[in-house]
Order: sequence, then C-alpha cells, then structure tokens
Amino acid sequence: MSIEIIIDGESITTETGKNLVDVAAENGVYIPTLCYLQDKPCLGTCRVCSVRVNGHITAACTLPVSGGMSVEVNAPDLVDMRKALIEILFVEGNHNCPSCEKSGRCDLQATGYEVGMVVSRFPYRFPLREREAGAKHLWLERDRCIFCQRCVEFIRDRDSGEKIFTILGRGTTAQIELDIELADKMPAEQVREAADICPVGCIIEKGVGFNDPIGRRKFEIQSVRERALGMKDSAAESGHE
Ligand code: SF4
Ligand code: SF4
Repeated sequence: MSIEIIIDGESITTETGKNLVDVAAENGVYIPTLCYLQDKPCLGTCRVCSVRVNGHITAACTLPVSGGMSVEVNAPDLVDMRKALIEILFVEGNHNCPSCEKSGRCDLQATGYEVGMVVSRFPYRFPLREREAGAKHLWLERDRCIFCQRCVEFIRDRDSGEKIFTILGRGTTAQIELDIELADKMPAEQVREAADICPVGCIIEKGVGFNDPIGRRKFEIQSVRERALGMKDSAAESGHE
C-alpha cells in the first residue's frame, strides 16, 4: 500500500512495511549501519542506525515504515549520537587499522570515516581476548569483534543447520567462539562468505591476508555512503571486490 512519510522534513511516497533504512537510502538519505544486511532478517544489535521517529529514538533497521511517520535522521544531536556509538565500538575492542587485514574493506573503519571520527571521546578499554587459530581455514581476531551476530545467525553448518559461531559470556566478558569441528567442514566459498559477512576484521581467511593493494580496496573505490545509496545490494556482499 502506498503511504506518505516524512524524512528530515521531506515528504516521501513509499510502500508500507518496507525497511526504514532502505526507504531512506532510496530517497538519498544515508543512515549508517553495521549489523544490517538488506534481504536478511534484522538483527538490531549495533544500534548505529538510530534515528528519531515521531519523537522517539529507535534503530531504523528494526522499523517497517507506516503512514504518517515523521523521521529525523540528520538532526545534530542524532548525528553526534551515532558518532558516539561508533566511538564506543572502537574503544570496546583493539583496532589498529594500519596493520589490520581488513583495512580499506572494513565497515567499521569506513563508517568511522563517514561520521567524522578522529579519536574516541571515551576511554579505551584495551580488552584481552585471545585469538582463536585452531581451525584449518580461518581464524578469529577476537579483539576486533563488535558482536553484531551476523556470523552467528547467517553462517551455519550446511548439513545440520547448527551454529558454527556463537557468542559466549555477557558484557565485558563476552567473546566470539568457533566450533572448530564444524568450521573445518566449511567449504571454501563458505569460509569466504564468513570472512566477508563480518563487518570488521575478526573472521579472517587463512592464506589470504592483504589481498587488494592500497588505493584499490573496497571503500577506497567507493565510500560506504555511496555504496549504501547507490548499490544497495552490495551490502549483502560485504567485503567482496
Ligand atoms: S577491524 Fe576495521 S576498525 Fe578494526 S582494526 Fe581492522 S580495519 Fe580497523
Ligand atoms: S565475528 Fe564478525 S560477524 Fe561475528 S559477531 Fe563478531 S563482528 Fe560480527
């Protein structure tokens, strides 16, 4: 059903039930995301897409649009709030971008640039989370995990449907875990899919490393904003070049 909503003061005609992130992008309004993948069930874990809808702050990816919605995306307080959320993700892990295999192809790094982050306003926690390197074809750089749950929900054993990745613990003790037996059964394209679906450099494919030269990496060719607005389906191929 055709409906009218307002985004940042502009009246927009769209279809009821569509995802607010997608509706905004279709109309040239960029809403940052990290856990959201178009055409996959919403996870709502990172909250980086927070906007104000009819006066209440909510994660845009969780919201199907309906008639009469009034959405604020680029009000200064919201822009700063989303920047703060990105800054929190940086201090909650250890992110040394120049030495990271995902640099230039990392959604967190690219979104940090997009929101204008230079340093975090929050103290760095420097967590100690041991890397997991026991599987044959991939390893986990746990300090870079942002707990988005993409791998947990969307990368499963192809025979049993069991989860290969899980998050154990809560709060500051949480860490990503890997079922090594199931991981060693993953075909090569699923290993690549897991590394690509991870929005940061936590899931790394062994033997690949720095596979694109500086200047030709994913977000150096096209910014995360341009990708979100112009190539929506590329979100589902996060990391592919
Ligand atoms: S995962 Fe992304 S943000 Fe973290 S160090 Fe690697 S490139 Fe930087
Ligand atoms: S390993 Fe990557 S995909 Fe999995 S929860 Fe952590 S950040 Fe998300």
